[in-house]
Parts: sequence; structure tokens; C-alpha cells
Amino acid sequence: MDYLLTEEQQMLQDLARQIAEERIKPVRAELDEQETFPWDIIKDLAQADLCGTIIPEAYGGLGMGCMENVLVLEALAAGCVGVATTYAASFLGAYPLLLYGSEDQKQKYLPALARGEALAAFALTEAQAGSDAGGVATTAAKDGDHYVLNGTKQWITNAGEAEINTVIALTDKAKGARGASAFVVEKGDPGVSFGKKEKKMGIRASVTREIVLEDVRLPQDRLLGREGLGFMLTMRTLDLARPGVGALAVGLAQSALDEAAAFAKERHQFDQPVIAFQAVQHLLADMATKLEAARALVYAVARHIDSGAKDYTKAAAMAKLFSSDMAMQVTVDAVQVMGGHGYMREYPVEKMMRDAKILQIFEGTNQIMRNVIGLALNKEYSRKK
Ligand SMILES: Cc1cc2nc3c(=O)[nH]c(=O)nc-3n(C[C@H](O)[C@H](O)[C@H](O)COP(=O)(O)OP(=O)(O)OC[C@H]3O[C@@H](n4cnc5c(N)ncnc54)[C@H](O)[C@@H]3O)c2cc1C
Repeated sequence: MDYLLTEEQQMLQDLARQIAEERIKPVRAELDEQETFPWDIIKDLAQADLCGTIIPEAYGGLGMGCMENVLVLEALAAGCVGVATTYAASFLGAYPLLLYGSEDQKQKYLPALARGEALAAFALTEAQAGSDAGGVATTAAKDGDHYVLNGTKQWITNAGEAEINTVIALTDKAKGARGASAFVVEKGDPGVSFGKKEKKMGIRASVTREIVLEDVRLPQDRLLGREGLGFMLTMRTLDLARPGVGALAVGLAQSALDEAAAFAKERHQFDQPVIAFQAVQHLLADMATKLEAARALVYAVARHIDSGAKDYTKAAAMAKLFSSDMAMQVTVDAVQVMGGHGYMREYPVEKMMRDAKILQIFEGTNQIMRNVIGLALNKEYSRKK
């Protein structure tokens, strides 16, 4: 379908697709098997000037919007969701700086991200604070003109590799979520250490670690925005990032459909290609239809955000929810279309099915997405007579 992309968007998409084809696909199985962090590919992306798409030109980026971001994410995820997650998580860590950073903070941190010399991470989750982000227990106690951070963040994508970590911590424990604030914690700050690499089901090229903060003394200029903004900053960051998860799902599902259809054309049973069986065609038809619907939704939400819309919480949650559920179903069906071959690691759909699962879990589970959408609908319909 023609989504009326501008010439610039098409060029960007072509470039990201080329990197996915030439640099990611040939090594994705190995990255997954060896659980290797994809620094070489990050360097390729930096060289292609793709690390600063959403960073304003004033800080060395391309100053592009959400639509361009989803196009790149979709293309990279068609190569490997583990690699694409690494790239996307860096923007997740950068959004708080873009949204709430002071001029000095932006000047200090954004150019290195735009050049791809540094990665970022976003650290919200803790052992007792998963879906319930208000349960964060990490503290940032004021001590003269410093803050002292203590606590442990769990399952943080890019942790240990990222130079720049946005960390949510309580500056006022008594206020709960309203007492949360956001800080920039540098990888080398004294008192910062990282846990072991988690062993994951999928996206194994991406890295997930704990961030341990022990008496980490930060000057005041590491606070993003002001005290008490941490929860709002988190919600606004996730609203911007969720269409990106939708884009990862679309790229992944496209790749799974391509693999399954190509296989079904070649595989013969009962003297005919299995794609000739209507049962297989119906599987493929459902996969293709749901995929296109998800793509249209992700693009529509991205364009809605770029139009300057003030409230896109519900739309962003819908894009994440629908697309990630779609990708899970499509990858399961891709394995089905390929039968036993699909179950073998030799074929990429086995990895795709494992990779799809996380898209229903991180950046808010799909149960939480339904809560967010339901809450918004309740508000909307309560206002109507
Ligand atoms: C690979 C990976 C990478 C991650 N990367 C990051 C990262 O970079 N930064 C970061 O901060 N976090 C990260 N996370 C954490 C992730 O965001 C959380 O895992 C996710 O938000 C869910 O929290 P939880 O796992 O504690 O599940 P829980 O909150 O314990 O939920 C368990 C189950 O209960 C359901 N549930 C919980 N509350 C409700 C409710 N109110 N209504 C309905 N159902 C509910 C959930 O949907 C889920 O099915 C990552 C996680 C993984 C696995």
C-alpha cells in the first residue's frame, strides 16, 4: 500500500532497509546464539547518520519526527528485533532529555547520542515496581547541593553499555509517585555498577542488566526538569516511545510473513506447493491483513503525534497493543505455515516467534495498555451526555 511517504522518508526507509539486509540479517542468528551486543551495527547506523534521527539539528541530529522514527525502527526490526530494540531503547533514554533537559544538559549529552558514540538507557523498573511504576523505591536524598542515589533498577535495556542513563528515583518518599524525579546517571559515576547480563527468551542481541546505585552523589544539574516530575516524565516518555514498539512489531511481522510465504511456495506436499492449500492461504491472508492494519495504525499515530497533538496517550497505547498482539500471532502462524522447519533454529521464524513475545511485555504490558485505553475511553464517554 502507498502510505504517501515524502521523498526524504523514502530515502531514510531505503537506507535503514539496506542496513538491515546487508549488515543485520547475515549476522542475526549468530548475535542471537552468542548473545552478542551489536556494537558493530550501532557503528554502521552511526556512520549512516541514523543515530540522531529524532535529535534536533541544534544538537547534531536530523531533527526528524515520530514518523521517520517508526520507519527506521520498522526496517531495522525486519532484520532483527534484538538489534532494533538496542537502537530504540537509546531513544527511550534520550526522550526525557529532549522533553525536560535544560539547554546545558542537552548540549552536554545529545551530540554524543546523535553521533552514535554513546547510547542511552531508561531505568524505571525495580524488583517491586513493574507495572506499578509508582512502587519505585530507589531514593535520591538531597545532601547540600547534591543528590545521593540508592537503589537497584532491574531489567534495564542497554544497561552497562549505555553512557547515559535516565534514572527515576524518589526525592520525596512520602509523596509516592508524585515524589519521583528523573536524573541523568553516567555509566562512570562513582557508586554505579551493573548486574550480570540476563539470559532471555528472545531479543538476545540486546542487553538487559541491573543498575545498582550505591551512594551515587550527583550534582544538582543532573536533575531533569524539577523535583516531582519523574512520574509525568515517565508517562510522556512512554507515550512517545510506544508507537516505536508498534513499529518493531510491524517490521518483525513483515519479515515473518515474507519467510513463511516464500517457504510455502517452495515446499511441496501431496504433489503441490503447500501455498496452494486453501488452509495455508487463509493463514497467510489473516497474517497479511492484520499486519497491514497494524502498519496503518502505527503510521497514523506517528503522524498524529507529529501534527502537534497534545494528548496521544490512548493512540500510542493502541498502536503498541494492536501491533504487538499482531506480531505474536503472525510469528506463531509463520512457524505453523512452515511446519517442523519453522520450529528449527536453522530457519529465522523460530527466533522471530521468541522475539515477538517481549513486545507484549515491555514499555507497559498489553494488560496495562488496555487499562490505559479503557481509562481514556471512560473519561471521554463520561464527558459526553
Ligand atoms: C527484556 C526486557 C527489557 C526491559 N527493558 C526495560 C528498560 O529498558 N527499562 C525499564 O525501566 N524497564 C524495562 N523492562 C521492564 C518492563 O517494562 C516490565 O517487565 C513490564 O513493565 C512489566 O512489569 P513486570 O515484569 O514486573 O510485570 P508485573 O507488573 O509483575 O505483571 C505481571 C502480570 O500482571 C499483569 N498486571 C499487573 N498489573 C496489572 C493491572 N493493574 N491490571 C491488569 N494486569 C496487570 C501484567 O500485565 C502481567 O501479566 C524490561 C523488561 C524485559 C523483560
